Amino acid sequence: MTARKLLVLEDEENIRSFVVINLRRAGYDVIEASDGEEALRLMERHPDTRLALLDIMLTGALDGLEVCRRIRAGNADVGIIMLTAKTQELDKVTGLMSGADDYITKPFSPTELIARVDALIRRIGDPPAQEDAEIVSGPFTLNPMNRTLFKNGTRMKLTQVEFNIVKLFLRNQNRALSREEILTSIWGNEYFGDVKIVDVNVRRLRIKLEDDTANPTFITTVWGYGYKWGL
Ligand code: CA
Repeated sequence: MTARKLLVLEDEENIRSFVVINLRRAGYDVIEASDGEEALRLMERHPDTRLALLDIMLTGALDGLEVCRRIRAGNADVGIIMLTAKTQELDKVTGLMSGADDYITKPFSPTELIARVDALIRRIGDPPAQEDAEIVSGPFTLNPMNRTLFKNGTRMKLTQVEFNIVKLFLRNQNRALSREEILTSIWGNEYFGDVKIVDVNVRRLRIKLEDDTANPTFITTVWGYGYKWGL
């Protein structure tokens, strides 16, 4: 699985690139449209899109609310966040009634944007099919069902914890994961140990998985933060 895919529909180019850049920085795979027709075409071409951010006031035949209704009609599972201008109080209401899950009022900060997107992504969850689906990344193939990891066809000998960490990385490829996030995902909320346990396991995993442990290309370090799968 690659990073989670999002669609951004916004006709004002500076706002669109601001949104797109910040979402990409947060590790999302972003496709972008400047009008409603283009957005609907992209949604059809990318059925794996998990969430759409739709500006309401658009140049062109379709406004954001109509795009929202049409996306919702074709896909009940996709998350939808409306982008509204400050004075569009009424649009907020109709936006929610047209099938949107949330709205963000302009102007918004990158922090607010990412927080809302992350929250909705968490709420809608991953499609159930992905739970058991094989994940391929470069030379690696991970099978969650029989809990195996192969590199170039050779089975890697991993502990269950190591396997879970690789699975977490492969499900979040190219996304920086903080050490705390990794700790909570793998060891659970009730674990009171130190985040250093994450570093210890990463070090062991690098020895097992990397071609050159001194220059890791699979599990890379995000300085002062955590780790990432990919360069
Ligand atoms: Ca607009």
